Amino acid sequence: MIDSSADGWSFATAREPARFGAGEHDGVPGVEHAMADGGTLCGIPEDQVTRYRHLFASQDPEACPQCRRQAAAAPTEPCAQERLHDLVLAAAPGQARDDLLTGLTQGAKVGLWLHGPTATLARHYAGLDTLTEGAGAAIDAFDAATTIGLARVEDASWCFLVVLPHDGSRPIVARGPRRPD
Ligand SMILES: [Zn+2]
Repeated sequence: MIDSSADGWSFATAREPARFGAGEHDGVPGVEHAMADGGTLCGIPEDQVTRYRHLFASQDPEACPQCRRQAAAAPTEPCAQERLHDLVLAAAPGQARDDLLTGLTQGAKVGLWLHGPTATLARHYAGLDTLTEGAGAAIDAFDAATTIGLARVEDASWCFLVVLPHDGSRPIVARGPRRPD
């Protein structure tokens, strides 16, 4: 097996900066704060803040300096591969699951990861007709739910589909051959 750690990619190196929502202290326009639970990072309580829909951007000239410092000091967060790996550990044992876990530890691309109405996901995102392993269980899971989650992962050989049921049942791993780019 090729040792892919040679390229330096790992869950540790792939961790991502923490992200925060943005907000404005009511009556004090022109300064953007980073939002945490219950208020801003710099301590303005929630009931005095209007939350924006966009994320706090430390490099923005209007960013509150104290929030900027605290955001920079916040712990990093696991990358998509690490978060998905932790979920896939609960899937039924099998070759597809093991290959996917290996791929994720080596940085396989998480091309899609979304939740929504099952019919929409099945029609546009799941690629159910491309599966050659695990298709039955994946289709059953789609048929059994009105909303569902899925992730698509590509390694050198395979396109994986991870079905993430919302009812708490274990994830399902299916796959089909990777199509040429
Ligand atoms: Zn602030």
